[in-house]
Amino acid sequence: MADITEEAKEAADLAIALQESEAVHIEVTATDKCNCSCEYCFEQDHCTEHMSEDKQQKIASLLREYCDSMSSSRSPSLYLSFWGGEPFLNFSFIDRVLRETVKHKFVQWHIYTNGLVTDAIDKLVTADYFEEARDRLEVQFSYDGEPHNTQKRKHDGKTTIENAKKLARAGVQVKFKATLSYDMIDKLPQIWESYRDLHEEMSCYETADV
Ligand code: SF4
Repeated sequence: MADITEEAKEAADLAIALQESEAVHIEVTATDKCNCSCEYCFEQDHCTEHMSEDKQQKIASLLREYCDSMSSSRSPSLYLSFWGGEPFLNFSFIDRVLRETVKHKFVQWHIYTNGLVTDAIDKLVTADYFEEARDRLEVQFSYDGEPHNTQKRKHDGKTTIENAKKLARAGVQVKFKATLSYDMIDKLPQIWESYRDLHEEMSCYETADV
């Protein structure tokens, strides 16, 4: 497997080469760890490790240096996307990158989460940079509707929905993504109804996209 620092360096080099583009998109795996054990997860036993502190520092530095270099040139928008595992399990890394890039108005962030790490989500909405960042922040929740969400074996979806509402109320752009496995196909009408109910419930939040 390629070293993650090398991958980040390649991504940064590629991004520099694309400076004339309208937008540059960089995906960062904040951690391989996950606190869930979905039956359909293709990562399975790989979801056990954080990257080392040294690598986290190097990636954060590369991103900061890249942003600094972009700010003195024609600046396309930069879209930083955090994936896992469960990225909020390594919130200190996300926090570091947000903190170091928030001053650059061309940067936007995306976090793809199962929505279960409540303490990290609480830290995000109370961070001192949150007001400055929230209009450029999108959080996408992995939520499979009911009853399909029972395949996320360690939870029933309630925590995910509560944390999604919390972020939507705080002004963060919130989205949902369902993974539908073949053996649940007969439950599709119920899953659709649960999504429709969620849409009706959250349509009062301008930032919710259900
Ligand atoms: S939340 Fe995502 S990474 Fe974690 S077990 Fe489920 S599918 Fe895998």
